[in-house]
Order: sequence, then structure tokens, then C-alpha cells
Amino acid sequence: MAEEINKVAILGSGPAGLTAALYTARANLSPLLIEGNEPGGQLTITTEVENYPGFEHGIQGPEMMDVFRRQVTRFGTRFLVGEVSEVRVGKRPFELVVEGKVVKAESVIVATGASAKLLGIPSEKLLMGYGVSACATCDGAFFKNKEALVVGGGDTAMEEATFLTRFTSKTTIVHRRDSLRASKIMQDRARNNPKISFIWDSTIEEIFGDQKQGVSGARLRNVKTGAVTDVKTDAVFMAIGHQPNTAIFKGQLEMDSVGYLKVRPGSTYTNVEGVFAAGDVADSVYRQAVTAAGTGCMAAIDAERWLEAHHAG
Ligand code: NAP
Repeated sequence: MAEEINKVAILGSGPAGLTAALYTARANLSPLLIEGNEPGGQLTITTEVENYPGFEHGIQGPEMMDVFRRQVTRFGTRFLVGEVSEVRVGKRPFELVVEGKVVKAESVIVATGASAKLLGIPSEKLLMGYGVSACATCDGAFFKNKEALVVGGGDTAMEEATFLTRFTSKTTIVHRRDSLRASKIMQDRARNNPKISFIWDSTIEEIFGDQKQGVSGARLRNVKTGAVTDVKTDAVFMAIGHQPNTAIFKGQLEMDSVGYLKVRPGSTYTNVEGVFAAGDVADSVYRQAVTAAGTGCMAAIDAERWLEAHHAG
């Protein structure tokens, strides 16, 4: 029996991957979409999406991804659930190792997105899911009438803190500098919220608690004075940015110093012919659902044309 070689394999099932699937499926390329351990991508851990065109009254992130998926399924996308542990793009057809099995493809669209960054302290790891979280949408409701710290000074931190005030009695943003990176509108929203306060110039050194009782407090260090303070809290939400999911491509695809994949300007071409990148994995600037979907469309068209030019007949 002839081995199966997919025309297009898509890695990732966020807006970029699903849009790439929609376009390649409608181009009769029968895409294989491989989804890992965060199906639907970051939008599944978001609340209200108000800035995706076409949804006049906004839509919940998870619901939006359901709609995407249903639309894509109509046109014959094949889904494969599993972690890709290894990628071989140095030979053709390309090979992807998924849960120990080799999947072959003539072209690959990488849409693996980016994941929340963590501080890297041991107590954070120990208490993750026990009061430490990187997703207010997922875990906020556990902290009704409780207190929470949110770490970070960007839009995510403002958004998470604002969201948490639906539940918490008090939310404190802990930021390592004395000015915020967040956009003015998000800053204003947080600053004007009476339930939100700020601790400036400080980092979290240690989170107190255990897996039975949850989080009880945190040790903060003022980076200017060196002063160490212990504060009481029931939860710590990490909102310090994201890391592109590109570890499996190290040494194979060109990336910047952070790990975002490099694409040829104005296209989704990576440095390897036949491998395309779309969405947050190649976008450290915009990182929006609509830009991810847009580049997913671009990657599908790039792949389709590349296949036609290189593999027609
Ligand atoms: P970000 O803009 O990179 O901000 C990360 C924040 O975390 C920064 O304030 C940074 O401090 C701090 N930080 C990073 N590493 C840290 C560490 N190890 N310890 C303590 N603090 C640390 O990330 P983001 O807030 O996730 O936003 C990413 C992008 O998504 C942005 O372009 C943003 O506009 C967009 N976004 C938009 C919305 C929206 O419009 N609704 C919502 C969320 C995100 P410094 O400031 O000192 O570097």
C-alpha cells in the first residue's frame, strides 16, 4: 500500500491554523490539521472578544473557536489530535512525529501560537492550579470575594485584573517598573477600577501556600530599594507575556532571539521552501485573532501556489 503523503499539514488549531485549514480545504488540498494540548489556542482562555469584525455584539472566545471549527469541518479538514514531538524539514516530503507516528507532508503550515510565560520560581510551579494561574478567564471564578495579585504591566495584566474584579474583593497589579506598558485605554480601565490597586517596582520572589490550602501569600521585592515585603493573597495570576511555541523547530527554521519564526516580509514563507508560518508564532507585534486569521489565509494561499508550482501533476 502506498504511504500517505499529505499535501498540507497544519500545526495548530487557533484562528491561524483553522483559517489556513478553511482555505486549503476549499482549495481541495484536504489538509491535515494537527492539534496539540491547547485545542482552539489562546482564544479558548479568553472571555469576551469585541474586536473581531463581524460579531457586532462580541462573542466569547471559546464559542468563536467552535464556530471556526464547525465552518472548517464542513469543507473536509481532517483533524489529528496529538503532540508533535519532532519535525524534519530538511528532507522531502517533510516529516512530523506525532505521538510516535510519522506523518508526511509536501507542505507544512506552522500555526502553533504562543503560550503564557511564567516567572520561573519553584513555588509558582508547585502551586499552579492551586491558586497560581495564567488565565483569569479559566480560574477567576474560584476567587469570589478573595484577593488576587496580577503580575505584569501590559495589556494582558490590565485585562486579567479588570476581569478578576468581577469576582475578587481586591485585585493588586504587581509590576516590576513604575510605568505600564499597556495601551492607554486598558490602563485607564484598570486605573479607574476601584477594586484595582498597584504595587510598583516590584517582583514576586516567592509564593506561599500548599496544594491543600492553596495560595496564602507572596513575597515581593522592591527592585529599587531591595525591600522585601510579605503580602497576603489568595491567588497569583501571571500576565507577563507569551513565548512562541517553536521549540521543535530550533535549528531548522529561522527565528528571532525570542523564538518567533521569521517570515519573508509580506508573505508567510519561512526560510525553508514549503514551510509557512501564520499567526502568533511569527508575530511579536500584532498578536490579534484577526491578524492570526489573516496570516492563516495568507499561508494557505502561499502553500497552495507553492504546491502548484512545485508539485503540480
Ligand atoms: P507584554 O506587552 O509583553 O507585557 C508583558 C508585561 O509583563 C510587561 O509589563 C513586562 O514588564 C512584564 N514582564 C515580563 N517578564 C516579566 C518577568 N519575568 N517578571 C515580571 N514582569 C515581567 O505582554 P502582554 O501584556 O501579554 O501583551 C502582548 C501583546 O498582546 C501586546 O501587543 C498587547 O497589546 C496585546 N494584547 C492586547 C489585548 C487587547 O487589546 N484586548 C489584550 C491582551 C494583550 P516590562 O513592561 O518591564 O517589560
